[in-house]
Amino acid sequence: MIRQDTAPDRPPSLGVLGYREGMPESRSQSIDLVVVGGGIAGLWILDAAIRSGLSAICVEASKLGSGQSVCAQGIIHGGLKYTLKERDLAAASPISEMPSLWTELASGSPELGPDLSEAVMSSPCTWLWRTDSLASRMGMLGAKAALRTRPSTVDREQRPELIRDAPGTVLRVEEPVFDTRSVLRALATAHPTSLVAVDGPEGIEFASRGGEVSRVILRNGTAEVTLEPRAVVFAAGAGNEGLLSRLGLDASVAQRRPLHMTLLRAPSLPEFHGHCVDGNRTRVTITSGRDAEGNVVWQLGGDLAESGVGRDPLDQIAFAAAELRAVLSNLDLATVSGAAWSTYRIDRAERRTGSGFRPDDAELISLHEGRLLVAWPTKWALAPRLAAAVIEALPAGIASTSTAPVTLTGFHPPEIATFPWENRTWTSHRDVRSAAPA
Ligand SMILES: Cc1cc2nc3c(=O)[nH]c(=O)nc-3n(C[C@H](O)[C@H](O)[C@H](O)COP(=O)(O)OP(=O)(O)OC[C@H]3O[C@@H](n4cnc5c(N)ncnc54)[C@H](O)[C@@H]3O)c2cc1C
Repeated sequence: MIRQDTAPDRPPSLGVLGYREGMPESRSQSIDLVVVGGGIAGLWILDAAIRSGLSAICVEASKLGSGQSVCAQGIIHGGLKYTLKERDLAAASPISEMPSLWTELASGSPELGPDLSEAVMSSPCTWLWRTDSLASRMGMLGAKAALRTRPSTVDREQRPELIRDAPGTVLRVEEPVFDTRSVLRALATAHPTSLVAVDGPEGIEFASRGGEVSRVILRNGTAEVTLEPRAVVFAAGAGNEGLLSRLGLDASVAQRRPLHMTLLRAPSLPEFHGHCVDGNRTRVTITSGRDAEGNVVWQLGGDLAESGVGRDPLDQIAFAAAELRAVLSNLDLATVSGAAWSTYRIDRAERRTGSGFRPDDAELISLHEGRLLVAWPTKWALAPRLAAAVIEALPAGIASTSTAPVTLTGFHPPEIATFPWENRTWTSHRDVRSAAPA
């Protein structure tokens, strides 16, 4: 079950920091729900609210998904990764239904959730292989034994060429991978008149007391509207901290876990999606996308990205190149024409856990009987669970007395954020210095 509290860890301040004296008294409109933040969480919550018959809008301060969502590797985990570490086993259960749900949504099942039939499923599965260490063997055994839906072992001839000669078992895992922008686009296209771009975080102003929001003013250029929401959801990823602070609430209920992601680009790289397991860690997670010129771009995550936080970009690239040599013996990058590297840093924004590790499930804090909800999906894959929990936690009876849609004259929907590999500086593979693999 999603952990859902009725109050943050510390009681909310009774201050009125979100309130600005002299707030204009322009004519206000009633609305059931204002969702703040248009990443995968906010967009999914908006869709669930509209399907529940609520009048709702989603307000975005930048571009849709411009925090984590457009950068996500797009894997709809079913829990396999979480069977590798004992402390992660609790997370395997909530997520286990997600691959089949997303797959059904991608084939258009309106009764289950948003229509993702226009979203691109980059791969119906991921591959799991290992390196030839003892610890690595034990990790694979753990992964196979602990899962409810067993992944299938694949004969050598049926493996992708890149991992044909990998030692030991290679597993095909029924975890689909989605092109993140195409999912964001599918969700946004369904509700164009309910998506509102504002002038950055300052384009939203709140009148609130102790976290209870009575009015929201939205601004973009000369457009301005005042809304009286019956409920507000903060689904702004890392932005939730600033929003909580602005309402005088305790922002330390949130945590960030940093990553240093590596990108490898080349016209002739094969598209590939999988995890190399070493002991109880995911040594490297590889997913593939395409840039505007049609090059294939690999995103390299997993332990490589977590341990790389302390490396500078060139060291991270050198380390990543050594890791790829170690985990993909059939790939010789020296022969891949035009291969080039880049890196970027990004934080995972989550609800704080006592241990500082990832929460086991999507997370929700509810204040004032659901009038203010603070939401974190924890994983992209868990957005459907989060949205269902939000609808459940809204003030009682909100759907049966729903208000009319609001008029948003002069506002427009936000654009969708670009992939993290667009507009970057690249280092040619020829110029990568050597580093020892882990
Ligand atoms: C590199 C990386 C890879 C990942 N890979 C996977 C994966 O393969 N599978 C998986 O399940 N999960 C993955 N995750 C986790 C997943 O991406 C996140 O859990 C998820 O995207 C969080 O979505 P969100 O909507 O809560 O936040 P975000 O995507 O960060 O969206 C927040 C939105 O709110 C907006 N915003 C911020 N502040 C304000 C404000 N004050 N007012 C209005 N709008 C605001 C932002 O501009 C943004 O559009 C990955 C995460 C990272 C970083």
